[in-house]
Amino acid sequence: MSTIDGLPPLREVIRTHDLVAKKQLGQNFLLDLNLTAKIARMAGDLSGSDVIEVGPGPGGLTRGLLAEGARRVLAIEKDPRCLPALAEVAEAYPGRLEVINADALAIDPTDRLTGPIRLVANLPYNVGTELLVRWLTPKEWPPFWESLTLMFQKEVAERIVAKPGSKAYGRLALLAQWRTDARVVMTLPPEAFTPPPKIHSAVVHLKRLDEPRFPADAAVLSRLTAAAFNQRRKMLRSSLKGVAPDIEDRLHAVGIAPTDRAEDIPLEGFCALAREIAK
Ligand code: SAM
Repeated sequence: MSTIDGLPPLREVIRTHDLVAKKQLGQNFLLDLNLTAKIARMAGDLSGSDVIEVGPGPGGLTRGLLAEGARRVLAIEKDPRCLPALAEVAEAYPGRLEVINADALAIDPTDRLTGPIRLVANLPYNVGTELLVRWLTPKEWPPFWESLTLMFQKEVAERIVAKPGSKAYGRLALLAQWRTDARVVMTLPPEAFTPPPKIHSAVVHLKRLDEPRFPADAAVLSRLTAAAFNQRRKMLRSSLKGVAPDIEDRLHAVGIAPTDRAEDIPLEGFCALAREIAK
């Protein structure tokens, strides 16, 4: 069977290198190279970008990224069994693929790349949200990346793009939408993966904003949303009591009813309250 890049089909790669999927590493592989090329295209113009890929596995998405013209790909893979398969991909794309055998939670690869940098990954589900939160909360804004194009469990994707009034709306939505444009660009059924997971998945594309959508201090906003959503069914005058002793006055000052609940308050309201509290 011919492939987008002349390399062997992924089923064959997995057989040759005996890459039996390990559940504890979140290994659900994408084997359709047309699909991985499509995901790569969702990341925007790759020809002028360096790409960080977390968890390349047998290399399906990596090959999609390279075939779609990524200037360079730096792939971080924890499972050493995948390295020989990835070395074959690197050989087919001289000078464009570097693979690091490491835990993505433990290294900072940014000094090896030149901007603009995009992150594209079919993330291991067990570390996906943690990595996303890290990428969304750098010490300084704008961050080192231009965009994140990431596969999540569909339920997590829905939480990232959720709007007020919905069950999915919470800290993750506020964090993502405060400083990025976040969109679900693709949903995938379990059968798209080998082995199929139990749940549906979705790709989210987050494009960074140069400035936060509304001004606020990141630490105050984080404290506020943690308190508000840790007790999301409570009225704000009660859930936010610990944040400021005169919280009712502060809420009134920014036009929020103290009887409202966290999930009723839009991002703009939380930012206004964060500014009021930081005064
Ligand atoms: N990108 C491949 C694909 O689309 O077919 C594989 C995706 S699979 C969902 C997740 C990959 O992340 C696996 O290859 C797994 O070994 C790797 N992985 C798991 N935890 C990791 C970590 N902490 N750091 C780096 N890679 C990790």
